[in-house]
Amino acid sequence: MSVLRDPLLFLSRQEKVKTLVETMPLSAGIVRSYVPGETTEEAVEATRAQTGHGLRVTLDHLGEDTTSRAQAEGTVAAYLDLLSALAADGLARQAEVSVKLSAIGQALPDDGPDVALDHARAICRAARAAGTTVTLDMEDHTTTDATLAALRELRKDFPETGAVLQAYLHRTEADCRDLAYEGSRVRLCKGAYAEPERVAYQSRLDVDRSYVRCLKVLLAGQGYPMIATHDPRMLSIAAALISRYGRDRGSYEYQMLYGCRPEEHRRLAASGETMRVYIPYGREWYGYLMRRLAERPQNLSFFLRSLISKR
Ligand SMILES: Cc1cc2nc3c(=O)[nH]c(=O)nc-3n(C[C@H](O)[C@H](O)[C@H](O)COP(=O)(O)OP(=O)(O)OC[C@H]3O[C@@H](n4cnc5c(N)ncnc54)[C@H](O)[C@@H]3O)c2cc1C
Repeated sequence: MSVLRDPLLFLSRQEKVKTLVETMPLSAGIVRSYVPGETTEEAVEATRAQTGHGLRVTLDHLGEDTTSRAQAEGTVAAYLDLLSALAADGLARQAEVSVKLSAIGQALPDDGPDVALDHARAICRAARAAGTTVTLDMEDHTTTDATLAALRELRKDFPETGAVLQAYLHRTEADCRDLAYEGSRVRLCKGAYAEPERVAYQSRLDVDRSYVRCLKVLLAGQGYPMIATHDPRMLSIAAALISRYGRDRGSYEYQMLYGCRPEEHRRLAASGETMRVYIPYGREWYGYLMRRLAERPQNLSFFLRSLISKR
């Protein structure tokens, strides 16, 4: 992990920094390179552009740390609007949605998890009506149990609902075993939050080793693994494991973030693989952008220049 990662993730929680960064116009190049737009129309436009290159898409309406019921309901309405726009444009077969339970009420006082579950059900219903699916993003470790509990509930009515597991958590290899059953869609990523040593591997080597162990469990299992990484080493190990376990094309997929290694997205799709691009959109891009910068300190100088030129 980069030495800049934890301080950056810490800074991202500071209100003053947040205010400064949020007043940058979205068109600031660095934001635009990770978040193609704010509105449903822009999200649909970005989807059309990606699917035109033979790529699949998963769309995330940005928002987390939702503190009011009205805010949560606004996010649900945005997903419903997006899903009907995707269906109307004939894009729903290639485009699903990714949802953060915190954006739809998980952290609200008293009955937050129930509110989020009801909201997630509404989004799953709309996704099914549109002809597509939902994947529940995974957030920091304090929410893992609640998110997996919501997943179990949702899968009773919507077994197509996707899960996300983060290889940096010590618990994840066991979670992979639990979720490697037939029909179970599981996105495996490394994990994007600053987590304590008590629950998470800290060194890149340990995270990578865990990623490979988890990949083996998922690819040897009966589910549908979604291999979410930009890491060339992880990708070549995944390819070797896919062939070792005799996985047919179409029984797994690759996933990468919008703006991260776009040439690799197209290369994989052109080689016949299923490749899905995660497209975040919306006004609440701050937390998402800071996690991307924490991963790619190379982008920092560009980012700082755009901050300074604004002052
Ligand atoms: C589709 C998708 C969904 C995700 N959903 C979640 C989620 O729900 N919860 C969560 O916690 N995290 C999520 N993540 C983020 C994930 O956890 C990682 O933080 C992020 O993907 C970076 O890890 P990495 O595997 O790409 O490798 P890293 O360890 O960050 O990088 C390894 C190597 O990959 C290459 N690389 C990485 N990024 C780039 C880039 N932008 N450009 C060029 N080369 C690059 C470099 O060679 C780098 O040295 C998601 C990621 C993806 C792709």
